[in-house]
Amino acid sequence: SVSSHFALPGWKPGAGILARRGLMLVLSSPSGAGKTTLSRKLLASDDRITMSVSVTTRPPRPGEVEGKDYYFVDVPTFHRMRDEGELLEHAVVFDNLYGTPRPAVELALSAGRDVLFDIDWQGTQQLGETAQQDLVKVFLLPPTAADLEQRLRSRAQDSEEVVHQRMAKASDEISHYTEYDYIIINHEVDDSLVKLTAILQAERLKRRRLTGLSSFVKGLRDAL
Ligand code: 5GP
Repeated sequence: SVSSHFALPGWKPGAGILARRGLMLVLSSPSGAGKTTLSRKLLASDDRITMSVSVTTRPPRPGEVEGKDYYFVDVPTFHRMRDEGELLEHAVVFDNLYGTPRPAVELALSAGRDVLFDIDWQGTQQLGETAQQDLVKVFLLPPTAADLEQRLRSRAQDSEEVVHQRMAKASDEISHYTEYDYIIINHEVDDSLVKLTAILQAERLKRRRLTGLSSFVKGLRDAL
């Protein structure tokens, strides 16, 4: 299991150990909806969530950093990782292989951190098979088709052919919005950050994520 527990800050030992399971926050969207920018802003503004860095066989884009944006690997390496159970989930996206390394996620969760995943609907479905309770699924939509196209073009890192491929794929990706818990329409990134942060904070307070709650409350009530 990838679940883990940690003591919440501010609780004194005598009060009983109130702990919370780390949660897995999935952010999916069609390519070009602004997901990368939103993810970066969330990571910068919240020090209790860590990014899951995926492995991919896709070549790096200019400016992408090994170990920060992705671990860039060749196909045999990817297959070895998959076959040895080192990936929590994996999928083919735009003819490239992508996967989530298991150890980093388990380490983060056991250290009491939440984990952010920038993965597609296929990976989200796979995580749901093993970690349903810990999963919070958010889907980011562009406000208009023109907005999505403009973002794909202004990125200017991909060839025209790749831009076309991604626009065609966007429609498929969007069709999976029904499999997600929350929808954010990305009109403006700082507004989307407020919404995403609200989702994260509310999910962190879910009663079922808290352990040691009954003894904590008992301690409170006994003192009354
Ligand atoms: P990009 O090549 O633009 O970085 O990512 C393409 C798509 O692959 C995005 O929708 C992204 O969410 C998805 N993706 C990135 N890493 C993973 C992963 O580890 N697993 C899965 N299933 N999808 C991923």
